[in-house]
Amino acid sequence: MEKEGKEWKAQVIVFPFPVQGHINPMLQFSKRLFSKGLKVTLATTHFLLNHSTFQTQTQTTVTVEPISDGFDKGGMAEAASVEAYNDRFKAVGSETLFELIKKQRIPVKCLVYDSTLPWALDVAKKLGIAGASFFTQSCAVNSIYYHVKHGLLSLPVPGPTVSIDGLPLLQINDLPSFVSDLESYPSLLPIMLIQFSNLEEADFILFNTFDKLEDQVLNWMVKQWPIKTIGPTVPSMYSDKRIEGDTDYGFNLFKPSEDSIMNWLNNRETGSVIYVSFGTIAELKKEQMEELAFGLKESNYHFLWVVRESENKKLPNGFAEEIAEKGFMVPWCPQLEVLAHGAVGCFMTHCGWNSTIESLSLGVPVVAVPQWIDQTTNAKLTADVWEVGVRAGVDEKGIARREEIERCTREVMEGERGIEIRRNAMKWKELAKEAVDEDGSSDRNIKEFVDRLLCSRIDSSRPDSIGN
Ligand code: UDP
Repeated sequence: MEKEGKEWKAQVIVFPFPVQGHINPMLQFSKRLFSKGLKVTLATTHFLLNHSTFQTQTQTTVTVEPISDGFDKGGMAEAASVEAYNDRFKAVGSETLFELIKKQRIPVKCLVYDSTLPWALDVAKKLGIAGASFFTQSCAVNSIYYHVKHGLLSLPVPGPTVSIDGLPLLQINDLPSFVSDLESYPSLLPIMLIQFSNLEEADFILFNTFDKLEDQVLNWMVKQWPIKTIGPTVPSMYSDKRIEGDTDYGFNLFKPSEDSIMNWLNNRETGSVIYVSFGTIAELKKEQMEELAFGLKESNYHFLWVVRESENKKLPNGFAEEIAEKGFMVPWCPQLEVLAHGAVGCFMTHCGWNSTIESLSLGVPVVAVPQWIDQTTNAKLTADVWEVGVRAGVDEKGIARREEIERCTREVMEGERGIEIRRNAMKWKELAKEAVDEDGSSDRNIKEFVDRLLCSRIDSSRPDSIGN
């Protein structure tokens, strides 16, 4: 996977929103582009580069270069609000991204930008290059946002249920939290809707999903936009194994304590461990953390729980000592390696889209404990459409109680239902691999994307418009 000394025909700049859950899929996509002959430069913020690790293996394939979001020292935390961050990111980022692309020696053909940063398309247009909007969430969730944006779903949602083309009948609590509970984070729904603001001007629209996973909702969405599926974006060695050495995302916001975790897993029996993680952002209520802690303890299974440093104080007093025999708590772990480990029997997850697609790709059954954003919808599909897990019920305070946590882990780990869930999980693992394998649906879409960039001049007046 050497990049030095190569005669590059074309270059692509990839520009994710600077958080782990957006960088991971876009970086993985970058590696696929590199494997098909493009030079790829990933642009991210100074702050993120100074506070994370892009691993060596990544750097032999994808070049990482900094731009400024206007918050070089403190990142997002330095901004007074989400709106303030986004406004400044747009103002400063537009200029620094422009400069970065302009100074490249190898011709840049396309800017692949995070769909939540639609202003990046203006930068691409100014430079006369193509723009590809990359959606990091599921097609189902984006379809719901599309319905809201175009007034096809009125807010506040009127009924106890919602019917949307290509999706099962949804209860209110299956909808993304910004849609079901308008008061929870009023500033965040606009960020989701802004993804569609200039989409008709994008040259490509890329979704991190695969055709068979979301066939019905994709069938509806492609009537609105020429969407191309390119997922699942897990490193090749966890699926089709066609990109040698592509064993991890190559990016970590926190430092994993890898050896001790793998040693601990190596000493556990096959399928005996519950892996628990709520991703990089979700902040659980103290009460929820306590219920989880006692539910896991009562289940009596071995468990590996990622408790980020900022969440640690919410654990019951003395919990770590109490469960030392059964449980192992770490601030961060190499999630893919953990999910791929034979000792892991189930994944208790918040159902962030990356975690969802990773569990599907690795065939790991799920206990879904969604918190907010898109996680509720992903949990619904996980349990009721793909049938690879169960979703923990919550009480009137929105808390999944310890008895429910214990019941769900037993349902997935034991008995007839557990066997059925494991069978379904293996089926989806195969289908996920098929999508990115030679001539699979996503592989064909990625090839077509690369071919069109390599062979075409750019006429960027409408989507799908790159012609000869
Ligand atoms: N992740 C990881 N180690 C951890 C926890 C999470 O590598 O200990 C990765 C995980 O594999 C996934 C990403 O962080 O790719 C989290 O993304 P997701 O969409 O699941 O959730 P978010 O953090 O965006 O809520």
